[in-house]
Amino acid sequence: MKLSSRITGLTGGEPDGWDLFIRARKMIADGQKITELTIGEHDIRTHPDILEAMHASAAAGNTGYSLVPGSQSLRETIAARVQARTGIATTADNVLVTPGGQSALFATHSAACDPGDTALYCAPNYATYPGTIRGVSAIPKVIQTRPENDFQPQFSEIDAAATGAPGAKSLLVNSPNNPTGVVYSAETMDAIAAACLKHDLWLISDEVYDTQVWQGTHISPRTLPDMAERTLVIGSMSKSHAMTGSRIGWIVGPETAISRLIALAVNTNFGVAGFIQDAAEYALNRGAEFEQLIAAPFPRRREIARRILAGQNLMQTVPSGGSMYLMLDIRATGLTGNAFANALLETKKIAVMPGESYGLAAAGHIRIAMTVEDTAFEAAMIQIVDFAKGFAA
Ligand code: PMP
Repeated sequence: MKLSSRITGLTGGEPDGWDLFIRARKMIADGQKITELTIGEHDIRTHPDILEAMHASAAAGNTGYSLVPGSQSLRETIAARVQARTGIATTADNVLVTPGGQSALFATHSAACDPGDTALYCAPNYATYPGTIRGVSAIPKVIQTRPENDFQPQFSEIDAAATGAPGAKSLLVNSPNNPTGVVYSAETMDAIAAACLKHDLWLISDEVYDTQVWQGTHISPRTLPDMAERTLVIGSMSKSHAMTGSRIGWIVGPETAISRLIALAVNTNFGVAGFIQDAAEYALNRGAEFEQLIAAPFPRRREIARRILAGQNLMQTVPSGGSMYLMLDIRATGLTGNAFANALLETKKIAVMPGESYGLAAAGHIRIAMTVEDTAFEAAMIQIVDFAKGFAA
């Protein structure tokens, strides 16, 4: 039987970000000891207190169908958190609880784009972006940000992409950014907003790393003048609370969009398990201090990396301000990101992601996930520097 072109054409248009990851996992399965600095998964598990809240909710009988938009109290908790962090009036009616940020990416593009519409996104980008856009039968169009601009998108770049795709419906941005760790400046956010207003675009703002910022300030573009009515913010408990496996996140946006997105949820995933929602509510109510505890290892490890990288000039750190990743410009070694990452895996048994996996913009770079404990991370960084030195001119 023939499958739809929507599903058969979903992936394959871009470099496959997972090749190296799969190779490393195979080596592990074959009994080799590999230091994995690949995926965005904490080296801690979900906090026992959160699991206890989850269990208590399930044991109390919260195992049936849940309210599809999310429980009123969780939606209120998320709205209050968003309002407190951004200063923009937000109520439960502005919030839809989703099974993770990934499903929120799909739903928001579904809300913004009709089949055949163009959806813009900025690279380097989280690997699923173009596939998700194709999943709603829209056409992904990439905007390549540039290393010389510290990977901050420029008004001229967005403007040119939108002008070249008349009728484009949306722009997807991600700050703090995966894979670069870059936190978009106020100037960048203003440029993004100006381009959305000029070209009448929905702005889909992926803010799943918003609690992982240690330099600069995270600005949610929903707060900018005239943007609340055209911005759909994506949030997630995955990174902020080490709850990747629980699959819970949200969309914040105008009430009119949220009410349509609720209908989409009713007709697709039918909501998030009630006991997971209760666990998320408990976790959010633990407050900012708890979130800081979860985020703390990443700036600490970033400092370890900076210390080890000092005194060499084959690898430059992309000036990042957040997320759980470190991106290194390795062009001075003469290698591509792919060649570097594959050779590093073979010779040093360390797995990092080639920049090319995240779009052409990050060619000649590697992404290091700072997701092993400090001592192992330090040892891996020393090995990476040692490896790069072999390519000194
Ligand atoms: N956006 C970005 C930028 C991500 O890195 C990820 C996960 N790595 C997601 C969205 C999706 O996260 P989740 O579905 O776990 O919330």
